[in-house]
Amino acid sequence: MNMVTIDKVKDWLFALSDIYSENREYLTELDSAIGDADHGINLDRGFSAVRAEIEKMSSGGVQGAAGQSPDSFSSLFKTVSMTLIKTVGGASGALLGTFFLRISQAVKSEKEMDGRELVSLFEKGVEGIKMRGHAEEGDKTMLDTWLPALRAMGDAASSGGSTGEILSAGLKSAEAGMNATKDMKALKGRASYLGERSIGHLDPGAVSSCLMIKAASEILR
Ligand code: ADP
Ligand code: MG
Repeated sequence: MNMVTIDKVKDWLFALSDIYSENREYLTELDSAIGDADHGINLDRGFSAVRAEIEKMSSGGVQGAAGQSPDSFSSLFKTVSMTLIKTVGGASGALLGTFFLRISQAVKSEKEMDGRELVSLFEKGVEGIKMRGHAEEGDKTMLDTWLPALRAMGDAASSGGSTGEILSAGLKSAEAGMNATKDMKALKGRASYLGERSIGHLDPGAVSSCLMIKAASEILR
């Protein structure tokens, strides 16, 4: 099975910084329909800070602001978490910060991992989002992308799929889950204040999570 290495994870995080910068207007537009028009701005700010922090910690052995070294998964993910909590703001800052914190705490192999291990880390991260936000599938949040994606990844992993196959299966279900948020009524977060009027719009967090999984499927395979 193809291994997920530290370099691949860094490439994924750098790609997210580009992707959220490119999709800043789109995500903000989605959030202007059912929220407060800041989701793209939040993620662009957060992931560009993540990029800067990783570059700082990777340059000539100088440790990052968080005092972490860049060559283990747990310290890399912990740095991502702390940076997002500090810089993103909004509901998504706390939720994504928790996602990466739980991942950093669940790491078993520090240098490389296989696809199965990656899925189990994503599961831990998403458990953190559920605990923190008290949302469930169907509430029109990022969980409507992540939970179907995790089920598909789990199925592909247990039937012996390669890392690439696991992630591709996850992406397919993530896209379906994201699209399904359009017809949902929001029950959690800012969009829930709109009640029925939240119906007919994609959830911004579901879309940004799908972009995260898409990048993972292209880079971590
Ligand atoms: P805010 O809503 O504080 O302005 P953002 O706009 O950055 O924060 O993020 C909004 C996204 O956060 C929503 O589209 C939704 O996917 C996600 N979200 C909000 N509340 C929750 C929650 N309780 N659980 C999971 N996701 C949530
Ligand atoms: Mg918002």
